[in-house]
Amino acid sequence: MRIAIIGGGIAGLAAAYELEKARAAGAAVEYTLFEERPRLGGSLASEVVGGAVLERGPDSFLTEKPAAAELCRELGLGDELIPSNDAARKTYIVTRNRLVALPDGLMFLIPTKLVPTALTRLFSVRTKMRMALELLHPPRPSDGDESVAALVKRHFGQEAVDRLADPLFSGIYGGDATHLSAQTVLPRLVEMETKHGSLTRGMLAAHRKMRAMAKNSSKTQNRGAAIFTALRGGMGKLVDAIAARLDGRSVRTATPVSGIEKTAEGWRIAAGGVSEEFDALIMAAPAWIAGELLTPVDAVLGAELGGIPYSSSITVNLVYDEGKIGPLPEGFGFLVPAVEGRAMLACTFVHRKFLGRTPPGKAVFRAFLGGMNREAMLAESDEALIATVRREMAAILGTKTFSADVEPEHAQVSRWRRAMAQYSVGHQDRVKRIAARVAELPGLRLAGNAYDGIGIPDCIRTGRKAAQELMVGEEQRVGSRE
Ligand SMILES: Cc1cc2nc3c(=O)[nH]c(=O)nc-3n(C[C@H](O)[C@H](O)[C@H](O)COP(=O)(O)OP(=O)(O)OC[C@H]3O[C@@H](n4cnc5c(N)ncnc54)[C@H](O)[C@@H]3O)c2cc1C
Repeated sequence: MRIAIIGGGIAGLAAAYELEKARAAGAAVEYTLFEERPRLGGSLASEVVGGAVLERGPDSFLTEKPAAAELCRELGLGDELIPSNDAARKTYIVTRNRLVALPDGLMFLIPTKLVPTALTRLFSVRTKMRMALELLHPPRPSDGDESVAALVKRHFGQEAVDRLADPLFSGIYGGDATHLSAQTVLPRLVEMETKHGSLTRGMLAAHRKMRAMAKNSSKTQNRGAAIFTALRGGMGKLVDAIAARLDGRSVRTATPVSGIEKTAEGWRIAAGGVSEEFDALIMAAPAWIAGELLTPVDAVLGAELGGIPYSSSITVNLVYDEGKIGPLPEGFGFLVPAVEGRAMLACTFVHRKFLGRTPPGKAVFRAFLGGMNREAMLAESDEALIATVRREMAAILGTKTFSADVEPEHAQVSRWRRAMAQYSVGHQDRVKRIAARVAELPGLRLAGNAYDGIGIPDCIRTGRKAAQELMVGEEQRVGSRE
């Protein structure tokens, strides 16, 4: 069986790895991975500069989703896995130009502790009253999807949207709470609203249940696991380790796929000026590209894929001599709500979040800019973007801590055009419609961040699953012929 994989991001690489494993174990499978760029990894791109690991894209993955750590261990990278430094975890929200720590007891957007919520400077008295009264919300049956902003506003008011939901979601998805689908990105809260009415009561009940389960469960070793896991040498190590396992003849970098045709037998792929025949196809390019390529095969499928919105983002890494920076507030960094009217969406204090990735005496900052409807920022020069970040950091951290006049030892800008899928209202219905069309096209599988989770573990899971399903399908086909 010959399988084409389009896209050499982490999803396509995970699919290729799965196929290579089967091939090495004797399965009659061949694959060709087509990647447009000269390098593999897609959004995963790390560099080591002066001993500091700099991430251009993702810096870690969620520990509670096992697919990424599992793959790392399979690849012999178990010793490279490092936890986030959660003992120092504290995140600030920029509030009228000042840093205000997220109140203790905030779980998944939901305030669960009375005193920290009452004392925080993040919310006005009016919002705090609303948060207290939220406990009285009666159960409400779900009547279809709505935006994250609508759900949060109904329970806690507009200020909670502006000061909490918006910065958290633009930090995670580069997204906009007024468009993101509550059903997709906050399914637990939607369920809690149906069952308990009050999200605070729902969250407290869930927390009590989890604590009781953890007490009785044999999985207690997972208790207290760090929220994020990274690779000591950078996320690029994962890309390198997969690439080292693949058969070099099966990987074509700098080879964009320009056309796809469905034939009677399978699929014809045009790339690099030649057309080749395959039995099956794993589409792991972003959905908007998948949509363009698949439109000649199925225009409805192409339109559905093309309808998944994407946001663009920019990361700016700045490396400083710690001696030239004043004392930083404790914690991992800060998020900037849109209502603050700044270019920056977030900033991570990299040297605090993961220990051992930066040399002693260096402070590394990673600023995140862009998001929905801010495409124009991508056209700004590196110098302009770096200057903006330095100016905004000085304004937010205060010039005693961070002076825009102190030159960084190293500055690096990375642009990610339409790289992050946005799960907008109605996403799940769209994904169902897409799945129904795909089911009509034998040998086609989709993988990547557009469908069922945008994180690295989700992309790995969908890539491996796509490869496994095709191989199972082939076994059944051969079995039924024999
Ligand atoms: C700045 C940033 C920070 C992030 N931070 C985190 C984080 O900390 N943790 C986390 O879990 N996730 C994070 N994410 C999300 C996560 O990194 C991505 O969702 C994931 O890497 C996407 O993988 P993918 O394989 O689906 O897509 P991509 O990485 O986009 O790969 C798709 C590939 O397809 C290729 N391609 C496109 N067109 C063609 C064509 N015609 N022919 C051949 N190839 C083509 C592209 O060049 C690309 O390499 C972040 C994303 C970004 C952009």
